[in-house]
Amino acid sequence: MLNYTEALKLVCDSARVSDLDDVVLKKAFGYVIGEAVVSDRCIPISDNSAMDGYGFIWEECDSTLELKVIGHISAGDTRKHTGLNRGQCYRIMTGASVPASVDTVVPREKVVGDGEALICLKELPKRGANIRRAGEDIAVGDVLDMRGRPLGPGDLGVLASVGCTHVKVHRAPTVAYFSTGEELIDPDEELVTGKVVNSNAWSLEACIRLAGGFPLSLGKAGDSLEETMAVFEKAKDCDIILSTGGVSMGDHDHVKEAMEAVGMDIKFWKVAIKPGKPLAFATWGKTVVFGLPGNPVSCLVNFELFVKPAIRKFRGYKQYHTPTFSVTLEEDFPIAKNKLHLVRAVITYDKNKGYHAIVAGSQGSGVLRSMSLANALVFVDKPMSMGEKAQALWLTGKELWL
Ligand code: AMP
Ligand code: MG
Repeated sequence: MLNYTEALKLVCDSARVSDLDDVVLKKAFGYVIGEAVVSDRCIPISDNSAMDGYGFIWEECDSTLELKVIGHISAGDTRKHTGLNRGQCYRIMTGASVPASVDTVVPREKVVGDGEALICLKELPKRGANIRRAGEDIAVGDVLDMRGRPLGPGDLGVLASVGCTHVKVHRAPTVAYFSTGEELIDPDEELVTGKVVNSNAWSLEACIRLAGGFPLSLGKAGDSLEETMAVFEKAKDCDIILSTGGVSMGDHDHVKEAMEAVGMDIKFWKVAIKPGKPLAFATWGKTVVFGLPGNPVSCLVNFELFVKPAIRKFRGYKQYHTPTFSVTLEEDFPIAKNKLHLVRAVITYDKNKGYHAIVAGSQGSGVLRSMSLANALVFVDKPMSMGEKAQALWLTGKELWL
């Protein structure tokens, strides 16, 4: 049986990076850009004032510190302004282009006088003060390489500044999902003995969205080979396919057989982790397919460990593995040896203690409630005591809790 690292490597090696879509810039937020952009301009385009004040020639300011105001320049002014003579200045506003002769700006609050015709500097600022230089932000030919991570507000601002109206970004994958099991009912159906609400469908829809995929629900398949194959066939053109349930050794578990029957290439079946051991993973042309366990906790744990990196890789993330971080255990984590356990935990942050973890309720593999209470999974492969450190990862979306 593969261990976690081996299984993850197989998933990541098999998962592909998407092709690129051309989108209008505003729609690119949160997507990963596919190519570097070379600036054809400098930003700012010209020297301009960093303050509302007065622009003058530093060398020509005499000891009286008095300047005559010969004109007003405001932001957006594209007129050509004449040069200054000794003892003269322009009244100039923030962002206004400074005429070539001006080399220094004194802020409004640092002058006395009527402010209109004549001013007197309280003191001489440094030569060149309060002028933003042309190209000090971005120069012509600068390579703006934002690949490998989602575009954020600052990135969109920079791209807009250099005149991008459209950019090429990696697509979000369409992630088809369906549940298998004769016992499954919808939340509004009557729950009678023997039935189970198809909760995985609701959990997965949210997970797929949060991880950056487009969820496509394909409903339910009964526990038969033919029905399972038929739903797989429906999903064939999707980027990623998830099934839940029917992937163990039971009499009515047909997922692995169906995967083989439709022609998928099964890469592994079972991983040495708890919860989440029964996991089938296959490729099917350009599509990657996960046969997730039906057990709701195992299903979600496997999503976090294996599906999320595949979605992130598809979307063009360079860092597609979910990062782990170190936490201090706030209590004993009494776990059986020799198997990697993903313990559902609540992690909090404290400025003295750093990140610290407690177990999130009962760890029974059928206890979904603890998945709701938890905000992280802690990796534990031996019994651990309070005060020891372990690695953890945030559950999708729960990083925002702190
Ligand atoms: P299976 O993997 O099909 O053997 O299912 C394992 C356990 O998970 C059984 O108790 C199922 O009833 C339950 N289960 C399977 N599929 C789902 C689902 N979609 N939602 C909630 N529970 C499920
Ligand atoms: Mg089943």
